[in-house]
Amino acid sequence: MSVNVAIDGPAGAGKSTVAKGAAAKLGYIYVDTGALYRAVGVYALRNGIDTKNADGVSSLLPEISVELKFIDGVQHVLLNGDDVSVEIRTPDASMAASNVSAIPAVRAFLFDLQRDIAKKNNCLMDGRDIGTVVLPNAQVKIFLTADPEERAMRRYKELKEKGSDVKYEDVLDDLIKRDYQDSHREIAPLKPAEDSVVFNTTGYTLEESVAKVISIIEEKTNG
Ligand code: C5P
Repeated sequence: MSVNVAIDGPAGAGKSTVAKGAAAKLGYIYVDTGALYRAVGVYALRNGIDTKNADGVSSLLPEISVELKFIDGVQHVLLNGDDVSVEIRTPDASMAASNVSAIPAVRAFLFDLQRDIAKKNNCLMDGRDIGTVVLPNAQVKIFLTADPEERAMRRYKELKEKGSDVKYEDVLDDLIKRDYQDSHREIAPLKPAEDSVVFNTTGYTLEESVAKVISIIEEKTNG
């Protein structure tokens, strides 16, 4: 049976960086489920559909194929065969992902894909509902969080490094709005699973966070 580690938490908590680091050390694959919602969001944006319009977005689903491909352990997202791994990282794509992710048909559409990957691979899977809905039987569940200002600063620096001219205040506003939306939706809201270990990374370096996550995983899987 494969080892599954669910890592949930709000936007910008460092889930992807920390999980990637831990996965590399453990030899597991790292699965970023947010990328799936982003791909659906981007498809709706490309087609001029309001990403909050459940009927409009749902009617697009039959024309969408989303796949995850792992090349040298790095995840790539294919939308109808095209690699959209870069395009899905814009602030517009973030908000579109949050909007479409509140639509039950979209969650149902992406569910089996996530389950299948976890069944076949030792993995760290990051998202919002992995420990609560997608992998309720995961051997390890971690809820990774950090204070909003620190999360916004990390995200701001990341976007700046990629050449974006965003403002810190806008990043913070978007992040707070997205967290609110993700935590208050009716379906699969963001919340720690009852059996999760909550880890607040505020003030931790990346290396310290990775070490802590690995120690949680080892403790839970060794006995
Ligand atoms: O993790 P990331 O920020 O890329 O996720 C983008 C959006 O996708 C989140 O704001 C959330 O609304 C949605 N999401 C979700 N469930 C997941 C992963 C992401 O609803 N498992």
